[in-house]
Amino acid sequence: MSGRPRIIVMGGGLAGIAACERLSRNPSRPFDILLLEGRPRLGGRVGSYFDPEIGREIDTGQHLFLSCYTGTLALLEALGTRSDLVFYDRLHLPLWDRERGLHPLDIPGSDNPVALASGLLQYEGLPFPSRLAFLTLSRAIPQVDNDVDHLTAYEFLQRAGQPESVIDRFWELVILSATNLPSRRVSAAILVRILKESLLKGGSHSRPGYNAVPLAELFVFPAMKLFGKRGVTVRTKTRIVGFSESQGRVTGVLTSQEELPLGRSDHLLSAVPPWAFEKIAPISLHQSPLVDQMSRLSYASPILSVNFLFTEPVHLPLITGFHQSPVHWIFNRDAMELRLVPETRSWFDWSSQAGDDFFPTQVASATVSGADDLLGLSDQELGELCLEHVKKIDPKSRASLKSVRAVRDRFATPVLGAGQSTLRPEARTAIANLWIAGDTTDTGLPATMEGAIRSGYRAAELILEAMGER
Ligand SMILES: Cc1cc2nc3c(=O)[nH]c(=O)nc-3n(C[C@H](O)[C@H](O)[C@H](O)COP(=O)(O)OP(=O)(O)OC[C@H]3O[C@@H](n4cnc5c(N)ncnc54)[C@H](O)[C@@H]3O)c2cc1C
Repeated sequence: MSGRPRIIVMGGGLAGIAACERLSRNPSRPFDILLLEGRPRLGGRVGSYFDPEIGREIDTGQHLFLSCYTGTLALLEALGTRSDLVFYDRLHLPLWDRERGLHPLDIPGSDNPVALASGLLQYEGLPFPSRLAFLTLSRAIPQVDNDVDHLTAYEFLQRAGQPESVIDRFWELVILSATNLPSRRVSAAILVRILKESLLKGGSHSRPGYNAVPLAELFVFPAMKLFGKRGVTVRTKTRIVGFSESQGRVTGVLTSQEELPLGRSDHLLSAVPPWAFEKIAPISLHQSPLVDQMSRLSYASPILSVNFLFTEPVHLPLITGFHQSPVHWIFNRDAMELRLVPETRSWFDWSSQAGDDFFPTQVASATVSGADDLLGLSDQELGELCLEHVKKIDPKSRASLKSVRAVRDRFATPVLGAGQSTLRPEARTAIANLWIAGDTTDTGLPATMEGAIRSGYRAAELILEAMGER
């Protein structure tokens, strides 16, 4: 021990990584930083590994980024991997509908409100009269997100004048993908926040982006390198078993290896999910509002990611969405490795040539959000289901499956249902030197990479302030 104050960060997911990045920026800081992670690698829910069956590095789950992810962009700048994130110049997503086939949702990347309205009105996946409902939605948006927390997103959309067909054949996919919960379950406050951060700010805030390198190369290895350079001590394979509290202060952390005492100037930042926090909190806190909130938030919704290798190339857009289908998104992996984006078009170009935006690929991945119903299927059954979806987009293809690898994450995201936003803990707690970060905390955002990163940055800022370092 150096005798200097110490900040211990528990959990090396994106929230813990972002917190350590912020805390370690000042090279002459008068405190030490120790990051503890239970698994062999940092990254938490973002990671990747080489799969010999697919013959590629695959992500533990396909992740989609948005241009409104300001915290993520700041973190990647610091990690030196910002250029490995590829953004479209506009929101261009071909969406498949059982009745109307494949039509792009094409919103220009400019913040001109006329261009935004025109993009929504041109979406041919819905009959024209239904599309007019989009234009009335902004009037129903409350100033304070939590004013609609008691409603589900579905109830809110109904009150906002969205017909049943528009909810089922448009909003449901948007909500499932962004929140990992169906519209009839998730809090309306989260939908409102998503709209405020993206579409309602303008097309430039709603451009999709993807990682052109595996997630471990985007976040994990550069973070290890940066922390090495900045003198952050990282201990992986170190499970936290518990922490102790006395008279309103954390006094120690017990890991699988050792006991770490915390002095009066030390701080503990918990960046583990609520289902882990509940287990490590000391008995003295079991009756506290914090642990009560955490235990009520410690349910998770699963995500299923299916990676498949074809016998011959198929032709797919970069990213295709499927309304009212068991499989929600299919990603063209080869096009992503080549860093392709859909061709640039001006917003007044009504003559979309869909064929221009199809690219050959031998590897694809699919995502099923809120995947409770499909978790029990075998890899082969999932592969066949995904192939059916591929053939809806490339009906001439004679490709079959060469190999399939499904990644089932039962604890993918917390369940942030109606009435639960106020349960999300704030970074500052009633314990003077205990701070909380992670995608479940009170960011207002859905449980996403961006929520996790912003929460880590926020908690770090508060700790620095408490130490008089800002
Ligand atoms: C399959 C999948 C797809 C997703 N897709 C998207 C997407 O497209 N876009 C998007 O923005 N977000 C997406 N997300 C969500 C995003 O990955 C998460 O919100 C984010 O990574 C959460 O980061 P975190 O740091 O809050 O938590 P975590 O990543 O869970 O990090 C917590 C860390 O704490 C560690 N830990 C837990 N308990 C202990 C203990 N007792 N001792 C020591 N360490 C411990 C864990 O090992 C972990 O490393 C997806 C998630 C999944 C699973």
